[in-house]
Amino acid sequence: MKAHDGMYIDGAWRPAAGRDTIAVVNPADEQVIAEVPAGGAEDIDAAVRAARAALPAWVATAPAERAARIAALRDVLVARKGEIAATVTAELGAPLPFSQAVHAGVPILVAGSYAGLAASYAFEEKVGNSTVYAEPVGVVGAITPWNYPLHQIVAKVAPALAAGCTIVLKPAEDTPLTAQLFAEAVHEAGVPAGVFNLVTGLGPVAGQALAEHDGVDLVSFTGSTAVGRKIGATAGAAVKRVALELGGKSANVILPSADLAKAVGVGVANVMGNSGQTCSAWTRMLVHTSQYDEAVALAAEAAAKYGDRIGPLVNAKQHARVRGYIERGVAEGARLVAGGPEAPREQGYFVSPTVFADVTPEMTVAQEEIFGPVVSLIRYEDEDDALRIANGTVYGLAGAVWAGDDAEAVAFARRMDTGQVDINGGRFNPLAPFGGYKQSGVGRELGSHGLAEYLQTKSLQF
Ligand code: NAD
Repeated sequence: MKAHDGMYIDGAWRPAAGRDTIAVVNPADEQVIAEVPAGGAEDIDAAVRAARAALPAWVATAPAERAARIAALRDVLVARKGEIAATVTAELGAPLPFSQAVHAGVPILVAGSYAGLAASYAFEEKVGNSTVYAEPVGVVGAITPWNYPLHQIVAKVAPALAAGCTIVLKPAEDTPLTAQLFAEAVHEAGVPAGVFNLVTGLGPVAGQALAEHDGVDLVSFTGSTAVGRKIGATAGAAVKRVALELGGKSANVILPSADLAKAVGVGVANVMGNSGQTCSAWTRMLVHTSQYDEAVALAAEAAAKYGDRIGPLVNAKQHARVRGYIERGVAEGARLVAGGPEAPREQGYFVSPTVFADVTPEMTVAQEEIFGPVVSLIRYEDEDDALRIANGTVYGLAGAVWAGDDAEAVAFARRMDTGQVDINGGRFNPLAPFGGYKQSGVGRELGSHGLAEYLQTKSLQF
């Protein structure tokens, strides 16, 4: 796809107000592949005005028609699947099969789920002598990260469209091409002008202008906890709705009755997919002391097998950051059993699949989000100990529990302070609410819970 030299505002590509640009770099070979405009406050203002102007007509559009537009959008994503995968691979670096299956595949599922929900959701209910209406919140400012560039856009835009909201999107600076491709898809799907608008730009400039804009009714942000905290404060001061999907440090708890080899193998693969750049990745593997040495050997073997199939990290900064964390782990006394801080290739931001053993719960690698292909094996003595370790970080986004039967795993999962838990390798469900406990965020995405974030209620009494 060819990069657009403008912003998608009010149904057309328009030149940016300023001349600043962002260079898009392929992290596999460090070559600049495109330039996109770096928008500022003026571009954001134009986009918010367009979204505001388009709001009354979109609010008045019947849910069935909104559903038809989302279904058309899903169809365009299906038709352009190959191009989407190639674009994500070019700017994020994910291996092509992963881009095809996950980066292009999951947004199609999510868009399809919202086409269904827009048509079937009860936007009106009777409660005693009242009729309660679920009405759109208004203009949404969506700010997204680079790690699942299309999924995170669709997880906000599809429910916002279904609810009857209009949107201004500020995507991550590392992956603007995927966002431009998405804007093309929205256009092709026949979504009316102004309902969806795109401004590419830097976080502290365009992102901040969007979060602070008076014409935005809800800010939906996915990204780091540090930026999320700022956005939450800005929204709070303006008494504005806010949804925050933030970081994670999820625990993969392997109870003694589990199939150890399967739990370790799936657990390592869960972290290495997308080169560890997954907010919900199970980066802490908790193993009973009696099985610990066997689990370490299995994890080292699984990571070594992953070897060359892993993609690079997204940029030079993340590359340096992740390698710094690995060095810190070694310095704090964790034992490297696979990978390490050395760059495995001369070119590209690659890090080897890395496994740490002898990690204790208070070590930096067990507490902070590394966002790289690094898994830490932590030993526990009994279930209470495992629970204390699992719940012992500021995060609570996701997790996994493995046991001989589902009931045992469920009993443990119910005690975890986290928003989503996979039981014995449970599959991804695009309708299940996703979001964090504690500092992992505020609000939920996906399914009807995700749709509810974009709605506000009005009661009429009779
Ligand atoms: P980031 O917070 O730096 O950036 C996210 C987005 O916010 C980008 O679009 C960026 O331009 C923008 N931004 C940056 N500073 C801003 C500011 N001052 N005001 C407004 N917008 C600003 O995060 P990142 O490095 O792009 O992404 C990685 C982080 O995202 C990780 O911590 C990861 O866990 C988290 N994440 C969370 C989820 C989730 O669903 N919980 C999903 C993916 C990523």
